[in-house]
Amino acid sequence: MEVLEREKLRPLPSQGQARVPGKSFHLCKNRRSFSIRLKEKIRKLLSREKGTVYKDPGGKVRVCLVYPNTYSVGMSSLGFQTLYSLFNGERYCVCERAFLPDKEDVRELREKNLKLFSLESETPLLEFDIVAFSVSFEEDYMNIPAILEMSGIPAFSSLRRARNHPLVMAGGCAVSLNPEPVADFMDLFFIGEAEGRIAEIIEYFFSAAGNKEKEEILEGLSRLAGIYVPSFYEFGYDGLRVASIRPIPGAVFPVKRARADAGGFPLPRSAVITPDTEFSGTSLIEIERGCPRGCRFCAAGFMYLPPRWGKKEDVKKGVESGLALSARVGLVGAAVSEYPDLKEILRPFSSKGEITLSSLRVDNIDYEMLSLLKEGGLRTVTVAPEAGSERLRRVINKDFSDEEILDSARCMARCGFKRVKLYFMVGLPAEKDDDCVKIAELSLKIKGILKGARLILSVNPFVPKPFTPFQWHAFLDIKTVEKRCGIIREMLKKEGGIEIKTMPLTNAIIQAYLSRADRRAGNLILEASRKGWRGVLKKEISNISECVYRERGEDEILPWDIVDTGLKKTYLWKEYRRGLEGKTTPPCDVGRCFRCGVC
Ligand code: SF4
Repeated sequence: MEVLEREKLRPLPSQGQARVPGKSFHLCKNRRSFSIRLKEKIRKLLSREKGTVYKDPGGKVRVCLVYPNTYSVGMSSLGFQTLYSLFNGERYCVCERAFLPDKEDVRELREKNLKLFSLESETPLLEFDIVAFSVSFEEDYMNIPAILEMSGIPAFSSLRRARNHPLVMAGGCAVSLNPEPVADFMDLFFIGEAEGRIAEIIEYFFSAAGNKEKEEILEGLSRLAGIYVPSFYEFGYDGLRVASIRPIPGAVFPVKRARADAGGFPLPRSAVITPDTEFSGTSLIEIERGCPRGCRFCAAGFMYLPPRWGKKEDVKKGVESGLALSARVGLVGAAVSEYPDLKEILRPFSSKGEITLSSLRVDNIDYEMLSLLKEGGLRTVTVAPEAGSERLRRVINKDFSDEEILDSARCMARCGFKRVKLYFMVGLPAEKDDDCVKIAELSLKIKGILKGARLILSVNPFVPKPFTPFQWHAFLDIKTVEKRCGIIREMLKKEGGIEIKTMPLTNAIIQAYLSRADRRAGNLILEASRKGWRGVLKKEISNISECVYRERGEDEILPWDIVDTGLKKTYLWKEYRRGLEGKTTPPCDVGRCFRCGVC
């Protein structure tokens, strides 16, 4: 890879420099009006990073990879970090980063009419060939038009021209599930897993940009795997529902998600280590993708099926090199504790540095596993029973008995853990008040077993997600959610050492709306980016409520039907009905099972 690691910042290219060899683009007039304070701040951040990539931009496609939230949040995203490596791994591509500035910086940029710029070479976003958003969460959608406007780039794709503006694209978990709410801002989406797919995008862009109009470039790119160009599809509506999706002649329908299965599951890991993230100074490694257990609410589990595990030797090497770079290694995946050789991975490293896991499945917990993690420095054990009663856990296909959960708590107590975190949801399909009483009762029993340990309950409203069996289900009305959270609080209020954390309910409604909205949500997102969600919610409450609280019909066209993940809609519906009947479904049996359509 032609990379100059930790080299001094290169001088900025002269104004009006061609973005791709032989192609002349626009000038940026705001270079000298950068905020000195902001530049200083960014240089300080860069000085604390390990692994920053600086490449000579001459003759290369220039990509600005943007995380639509702050540096601290974005640098904690392994997906974002992986893309940074993948783009920079291409010979004819240079990839830099940009983030949503902190509040005071946004104010300064707006007041002084300054433009947002990249971290590595302090180049305005407007001067890049491609601005690529990596979007993990729906809550960040409002930051997309905000960042574009801060960069002097029109928010709507229809107002941008290839010769004046970068191509704007997005990928990541949230938009791969349902790209529609932000479709009007994007020239194209990358749907699915990017490993092995970046080269063809860069190669096509390298050969086409400058010679072709935007429509032609998009047309060429749309032939590549996982590429969705929203302007090539016309959505028809019947009131608030989607009545039809019509592709223009030649456009592929539906768009197949790209899957990184050629040559085995790659091992994404943190490219840049920094102390300024949520996972301060932690090297993250994805050891597993797609969960075999089929929990009916879980988008990450279904979206990335079939389940795939990194090779044991690669994981070991990854942990070793991670611990050489940082004091802590975080193993991540939709079902990390399902990794078949996990103890074998942990054993040699437990005394060499801290190894953390995103969360543990109750039925994977045993004394040896917890001891290895404790020895490796793990402070908090996180488990996710999700529901308080055995009945409701069958509905969501997370079929642990209360006794299994209590056994895992006994194991934690024996190992001497002082902090335990439990994830629960409120508002699940078929839930009754009594299920929330059971959350509190179960928590009290666990607290009793853990004695002096601190128990943290994360209790959040269930949000139905696309491409899960619960995608048709209505979000529970917020008054009932409030009441049920209240039951839990009331029952636990006198118990010391238990902390309850709940996301603000307004945020849950916004997330529920954006998860399943169609592309008409774009105008609302733009308005929210300028004035905040409060006013938008007030003005549009009936439309938003209809979207959030409506149960979808079996045959209804869903906005995300534009995407083909390989999952059969009929299978998901069957799973939904089985869930409501309290019937469980066994885990994946790769090689012998073909039921969901993915394998
Ligand atoms: S076909 Fe079977 S094994 Fe394959 S992803 Fe679907 S449920 Fe899992």
